[in-house]
Amino acid sequence: MSEGLGENADTDTAQWRDGGWKASYGNVMMRTLATPKLMLVRGEGARVWDVDGNEYLDFLAGIAVNSLGHAHPALVDAVSRQIGTLAHVSNYFSTPPQIELADRLRAITGAGERGRVLFGNSGAEANEAAFKLARLNRGPHGRRTRVLALHNAFHGRTMGSLALTGKPPMREAFEPLPGGVEHIDSTIAALEAAIDDRVAALFVEPIKGEAGVLDLPHGFLRRARELTEQHGALLIVDEIQTGVGRTGQWFAYQHSGILPDAVTVAKGMAGGVPIGALVTFGWASELFSQGQHGSTFGGNPLATAAGNAVLAEIERADLIGNAARRGQELKQIIRSFDSPLVGDVRGHGLLIGIGLTEGDAHRLSDAALRYGLIINAPNESSIRLAPPLIVGDSELAEFRERFGRALGSV
Ligand SMILES: *Cc1c(COP(=O)(O)O)cnc(C)c1O
Repeated sequence: MSEGLGENADTDTAQWRDGGWKASYGNVMMRTLATPKLMLVRGEGARVWDVDGNEYLDFLAGIAVNSLGHAHPALVDAVSRQIGTLAHVSNYFSTPPQIELADRLRAITGAGERGRVLFGNSGAEANEAAFKLARLNRGPHGRRTRVLALHNAFHGRTMGSLALTGKPPMREAFEPLPGGVEHIDSTIAALEAAIDDRVAALFVEPIKGEAGVLDLPHGFLRRARELTEQHGALLIVDEIQTGVGRTGQWFAYQHSGILPDAVTVAKGMAGGVPIGALVTFGWASELFSQGQHGSTFGGNPLATAAGNAVLAEIERADLIGNAARRGQELKQIIRSFDSPLVGDVRGHGLLIGIGLTEGDAHRLSDAALRYGLIINAPNESSIRLAPPLIVGDSELAEFRERFGRALGSV
């Protein structure tokens, strides 16, 4: 271990070089994850460096978290200033950045004047809060007993958010999970068959990121909006991966022109500082009452100051426009390889999935790493790209070169 402050980074990390960190990782970390491929020590823009000094182009951005890339001055300044002023106060007190961020979220989601915001610290927590919101939606005949979610959608790893997650292998070891959740296919026919007056809420992941960046069928969200409205069910959109500009709109549901009753936000909102939020619309804002939910860290000034800095910079630099435009360019680059391996190219803006026709996506992502490119294989047949929203010509040119070499090598 480091002897403490004052030593330079070289001394601090010397013992971890040449894979020296791997045995320690295996000893001290819980066995919930495979041993990572790299130990990273520094980042700047769309680039990161490992402990051995190798540089990588980061087209995963901490799974759609580092919206502004690494060490962006706007975020560094805001967080440094805030932690040097007031980092945390508990929910017995308010702070300026908290109200400012809640107000910004109401504006960018379209929730407007009747919107309300509940802050937490992660995506799973935001979905937990949304699940509790669903339980509060009483029908004309008392409690609504059914909660609908989609097969293969991911909503998090806590007990409630896992109950919503439509992936049996993740769930089975932890059953019984909170009850009443039914998973349906992502088709309009399945929606029409499932929704009735006993449904409290329908949860939708608008692009299934963890499943390999799978788009919903055309018209799905519009039909979901009509049916939930008709039956008094909440339409809750999980924008934890798709939100905050990533798809070329502030939120993915805005591509369909609908407004949900609630939206959950996390990953990209504070550029790497942990945060989550549930934003409610209209009547859904009246469901929670005093004492029904809370979190010690939720909405603290440090995290909300980071959120304000990220949202302000996205607006100032038009990173939503950039995500839309660079996403198109990136798709063109991927298709231009004309490789038999590359199947469909999916997603919106800078959340892109590549379906592989054969072979193993993990082999391709490992190969990319060898050529200095971080991409992600969420499953055997898909590659996911989620670069920071700041990428420009030079990053795309570099992606073309490195991805091309990786494709050619597998
Ligand atoms: C990442 C993710 C979550 C869970 O967020 P955590 O911060 O990991 O708890 C939930 N839903 C979606 C769509 C996600 O991508």
